[in-house]
Amino acid sequence: MDTAYLASNWVRIRRRVDDACRMAGRDPAGVDILPVSKTFGPELIRAAVALGLHRFGENKAQEIRDKSASLADCDIDWVMIGHLQTNKARDVARLASEVQSLDRLELVEALDRRLQQERRAIDVLVQVKTSSEPSKYGLPPEQLPDFLNTLRGYDTLRVRGLMTLAIHSSEPAEVRGCFRLLRELRDQAVAQGHELTRLSMGMSDDFPLAIAEGATEVRIGTAIFGNRSYPDSHYWPEAPVES
Ligand SMILES: *Cc1c(COP(=O)(O)O)cnc(C)c1O
Repeated sequence: MDTAYLASNWVRIRRRVDDACRMAGRDPAGVDILPVSKTFGPELIRAAVALGLHRFGENKAQEIRDKSASLADCDIDWVMIGHLQTNKARDVARLASEVQSLDRLELVEALDRRLQQERRAIDVLVQVKTSSEPSKYGLPPEQLPDFLNTLRGYDTLRVRGLMTLAIHSSEPAEVRGCFRLLRELRDQAVAQGHELTRLSMGMSDDFPLAIAEGATEVRIGTAIFGNRSYPDSHYWPEAPVES
C-alpha cells in the first residue's frame, strides 16, 4: 500500500468517526482512533508515523517486540490489545505504554512483577467479555467489581477504563447490546467510586454502534491499513490457551 492511500484512508475514517459522533449527538473530540497495525510491517507503520500517528494497537507481544526494535527511531506508543500470556508479560512491561486486554488476576500479578522490575507504571483497561461467544477473551461481567477492587492494590497498573469486543453478528441490536453492557458496567463502577473514564470499543465494521453507546476510543485496523493476510481466527483462537 502506498502512502497516499494510507493518508486518504486515514482522512476518510476520521471523517466517518466524526459523522458517527454527530449522528449520536456527541462531540467528535471525545472519540479517539487507535490505529491497529497488527500483521503490518514496519514500513507501513513508519508511513503512518509520517502522517502524524504515534499510537498503535498490536495483539501479540512478539510483534510489539519486533516492531519496536525496527522502529526504535520513531516515537511510538505501543498498545497491547490482544490476549496476553503471562510468559509474555515481560516484553509488554518493557515496551508497551498501555494494555487494554487485562482480563485476569494471573495477568495482573505477572505484569505487576515485571513492571516493578522495570520501575514503570502503565495505563490499563480491563477487557470484559460482553458476548456469549466462546471464542472471546475477557473477564466475565459479574467478576468486574471484585477485580476492580483488587486492582486498587497495584501501583504499577493505572486503571483507566474498560475494553470489549462485540459479538460477531449481522444483527446490529446484538452488537450494540455488547457495547451498551460495557457502558453500563463502567457507569456502575464509577458509581462505586472507581475513576474509569475510557471505553475502548468498536472496530472497522461496528464503530458507529460503539460511538452511539459512548465509546471514547475505537480500534481501527482494516479501514486504515487494508485487509490482513491472516484471518481473525488466527488471533482469536477458539479456546483460551495458557502456556
Ligand atoms: C484486529 C483488532 C481490531 C481491529 O479490527 P478491524 O476490524 O481491522 O478494524 C480491534 N480490536 C482488536 C482487539 C483486534 O484484535
